[in-house]
Amino acid sequence: MKQNVQPPKPIILLNIDSLMPEPLEIAVQTGRAPALKFLMENGHYISNVVSPFPTMSVTIDSSLLTGTYPNKHHIPGLNWFDNSKKEIINYGTGFRETTKLGMRRTVHNMLYRLNNEHLGEEVTTIFEDLADKGIPSASINSFVYRGNTPQHLHVPRFLSTLTHFKNGEWITKAPSIISLGMFSKLRPRGFTAQIAAGNYKFTARELRHLIRKNRLPGFTFCIFQDMDARIHFKGRMDIKGITKIDRQIQKTLNMYPSWEEALNRNVWMVMGDNGHAPTGANYREFIIDLRKILKTFRIAKIQRSVHKKDQLVLCVNQRMSYIYVLDNNLSLTTVINQLQTDKRIDIIAWKEKDYVHIASGMKNGSLRFSPTGEYKDEYNQTWNIDGNFDLLDLDVRNEKMLSYGDYPDALARVYSALHSHSGRFIIVNAKPGCDFKAQSTPFHLSGAAHGSLHKQETLVPLLIAGTTAKPAYPRLVEMKEFILRLSSQQ
Ligand SMILES: [Zn+2]
Repeated sequence: MKQNVQPPKPIILLNIDSLMPEPLEIAVQTGRAPALKFLMENGHYISNVVSPFPTMSVTIDSSLLTGTYPNKHHIPGLNWFDNSKKEIINYGTGFRETTKLGMRRTVHNMLYRLNNEHLGEEVTTIFEDLADKGIPSASINSFVYRGNTPQHLHVPRFLSTLTHFKNGEWITKAPSIISLGMFSKLRPRGFTAQIAAGNYKFTARELRHLIRKNRLPGFTFCIFQDMDARIHFKGRMDIKGITKIDRQIQKTLNMYPSWEEALNRNVWMVMGDNGHAPTGANYREFIIDLRKILKTFRIAKIQRSVHKKDQLVLCVNQRMSYIYVLDNNLSLTTVINQLQTDKRIDIIAWKEKDYVHIASGMKNGSLRFSPTGEYKDEYNQTWNIDGNFDLLDLDVRNEKMLSYGDYPDALARVYSALHSHSGRFIIVNAKPGCDFKAQSTPFHLSGAAHGSLHKQETLVPLLIAGTTAKPAYPRLVEMKEFILRLSSQQ
């Protein structure tokens, strides 16, 4: 339908990894983030947007772009086990996390298989939906990039031996504008400082290039991915990272006659992806070594392929872990009983028949639930639940209205992680302060970590300026509908 009205404003979404509400508010209030302050004061600020579970970038970016939880988009975490191929999948350092799995495998998983094999075919990304409406988009620095336009990406020569691509080049469907560090750059002479993708300056320069050349498409998604590593090391209240990125946003807004004019011409959104939970200093107290707890079972070793006799596979995502039970003669209950002996595991979840079951190493009793039932939660989802509601810190008010405490949107998020891929597995969640460890997984003492269902890692901020519209609910999974709605409005 053609209308004689102004086209919708271009939308620019800046995803600042590990941006959290408290440090953002402190940075703004103490004059250390003038650009973010301007956006906050001239737009909406939502401080409690719920991120998906596990709270790991790859799952979160997939949810943001597809508007679904992992039960639909099928990216279960940074680290998971593909039961059909009997293979551990790890997306590697490109997702800001370190790993000891073979570099070749992780580079290939991250650059190719994630978008072309793993990301569910039954879901569509914002890029794909906009392209279907004839609206182009840009992706800057996002490893989840699936779109409709075949694009050639290149691996630089010194890295090409690490991938399976012929001549270091691969064709992939992406948005019409894609910038991914050294694999694809918008500015022909632009310098990239990092191996996998660009740093925050690179991202901002690529965005400014689009603005300068008058090439901003209907939707531009930019990821700033430098703060995560800082916060793992320095703790969650680090403000310096915010100040540095704010300076880049100032430079970008300065390209317009005034900052107000930048809002007149575009919709600007800034959001975090996951929070961080502070971690304790003492190894024995705060690191949960799953191999020790499960030492009576034969656990697969990550450096070789899974052996017939292996009973368990451990795929740790920092403060959560998937535990796969490969041995069909070994009951889930036996493994769960063993996990319950550790008082630092606050949630243990698994599927049985049509129910999700919850137990804990910290609290007594059990809980089970399934979708659709007499309880309605704050996101208008209904559930059938019985057992000890404390296990997921659920609060029931009048007329079976459910609200969440320490674990926001817990029912949908646990359900989605358990249905994100096939296999017989258990999910464990660490209590605040603790981090899981298996073979060669990074852990974070005296710093911060994420991955869990807890609100510390789950609630992220969202700034929206240049429009009065808002997402239907404060959940990251609502952003796709919101962006598509904005793109078809004027
Ligand atoms: Zn991280």
